[in-house]
Amino acid sequence: MALAKPGTKLTILPCGAMTADLTWLLLAPGRAIRSRQQKAEPPEWVDVPTHCVLVDTPEGRLLWDTSCPPDWEQRWEPTGLHDFFPYDKVSEDEYLHARLQQLGVAPGDIDYVVLSHLHFDHAGNLGLFRDSGATFVVSDVEKEFAFGFDGAFSGAHIKSDYQDVEFRTVSGDTEFLPGVSFIQTPGHTPGSMSLRVDLPESGTMIFTADAVYRGESYGPPSVPAAIVNNLESWYSSVEKLRGIAEETDATMVFGHDPEQIRQLRVAPGVYA
Ligand SMILES: [Zn+2]
Repeated sequence: MALAKPGTKLTILPCGAMTADLTWLLLAPGRAIRSRQQKAEPPEWVDVPTHCVLVDTPEGRLLWDTSCPPDWEQRWEPTGLHDFFPYDKVSEDEYLHARLQQLGVAPGDIDYVVLSHLHFDHAGNLGLFRDSGATFVVSDVEKEFAFGFDGAFSGAHIKSDYQDVEFRTVSGDTEFLPGVSFIQTPGHTPGSMSLRVDLPESGTMIFTADAVYRGESYGPPSVPAAIVNNLESWYSSVEKLRGIAEETDATMVFGHDPEQIRQLRVAPGVYA
């Protein structure tokens, strides 16, 4: 992979948190799966933070993922997801549109909106960019799945989030801009991707999105979530990422890790 061009800047946009039963995220024996000694322990309700990533390069500005929408309660109600993953730990200044405003970035300033996958908490703000002229990018496999089922939603895919969008698709691992690559990491969904950015000063950063939810999911040993589209692919995607991380000494940024997001440099700070 090439290094990103000098002048490339990466900004992490934290967008508040959903909250949920940790069992959804971490199906670990002795944790989600109880022993007889643990029968009476209550479920653990935890923060599920969500973030987006803005990558400014001399060849264009790319946004990775779009987080959850401010009107989540109405939008998710038909699916039941609003009760299992309420987006209720977020303030007005943490919504994606506010984060972009704080940086002086208008939707029309973004050239590429890239989706790790099309779940409700990643594709939730595509509407912000509908008439912006941006190019929308998703993996071919994800698109095929997301448009291929009958009905308005399937699990955490909600068609109204993305059905009006015309996507450009990528297949396989793809260097999209110099130093900015998409890694195919299926398993969480059929076409989940991770983002790899090879920065001149900060080195390689990998944004796993939901291929790896949290540090405990990564392990080793890796620990799957309660809902995985394909468990075998999920395990091999995690090991694929681990291989790249070891080879490049990458900074791994997990999709929904409440401890990690506090330790990262976030907007308006940048990685260069
Ligand atoms: Zn997801």
